[in-house]
Order: sequence, then C-alpha cells, then structure tokens
Amino acid sequence: MIDRFIQICKEANLNITPQRIVIYKELLNHHEHPDAETIYRRVKEQFPTISLATIYKTLDTFVKIGLLSPFRSGAGTTRYDTNIEHHHHLVCIHCDKVIDISHDALANLPIESLPLEDFQVINHQVEIKGVCGDCQKKSKQTMKSQTTN
Ligand SMILES: [Zn+2]
Ligand SMILES: [Zn+2]
Repeated sequence: MIDRFIQICKEANLNITPQRIVIYKELLNHHEHPDAETIYRRVKEQFPTISLATIYKTLDTFVKIGLLSPFRSGAGTTRYDTNIEHHHHLVCIHCDKVIDISHDALANLPIESLPLEDFQVINHQVEIKGVCGDCQKKSKQTMKSQTTN
C-alpha cells in the first residue's frame, strides 16, 4: 500500500517527506475513515511541531493527486478514504465509524430505472446506517452491569 503512495507521489512530482509518509500511514492503519483533526492528534505524537493547517494542506494535496477520496460524514465533517475503488459504507450512528463494504448487489443497483429527471449520474455510493459490532458489545456490557448493580 505504501508502494502505491510512493508511486503516485512520484508521478505527481510530489516530494516524499517523512511528514507526508506519517500522515498517509495514519490513514492506512486506522481504516475507520478519520477526519483531519483525528489525523492531526495522532500525527502530533510523532511530529509535535506539525500544525493542523499542514494536515489540511497535505490531505488536500493527497486528494488532488488521487491518493484519497473525501466524503462528508453524517456529522458534517469531511472524512478521508484511502480506498479509491468503488465501494460503499456502513456507518455506525454511535461512534461515527465508517466501514467499507463492496458487493455486486450494491454495485449493480438499478439506478437507471429511478425517476432521475434530467439528473446525470456519474457515480453512486450507498451508506448503510446502523450500530457497529464494538458499540453493540459496549451496550450489552452496560446493560449487564446495570442489571448486576
Ligand atoms: Zn460504533
Ligand atoms: Zn470507504
């Protein structure tokens, strides 16, 4: 995955700086589609002098050269996705985690048969809302501790 990063940077004539590598690795390692502030908090541990503005600028650059695709989360913040293949999202309404899902059934939705009027379709991405496994476990645990108390 980091090979792809190096290759795309080279093609775009972008210098591969340690900061850029760390930012991209953060995105790869935590595949819950973080926002800029989450990345900032994590990268800051390794580069205490880095600014939020640098993070935004770097993410912008990554989007421009096709390394990332941005999208809006339910909470209205811009989130970043290292998966630039066509895929869909499972969104947890509790922790705002976004999980990738790919399936033929979602890829081949009968979009053309919808009443689209003069709307020209370029792409589609399905967002399925619900409660992730971790949050389900947590709510079961709190239920348990409430009954034992
Ligand atoms: Zn969750
Ligand atoms: Zn995704």
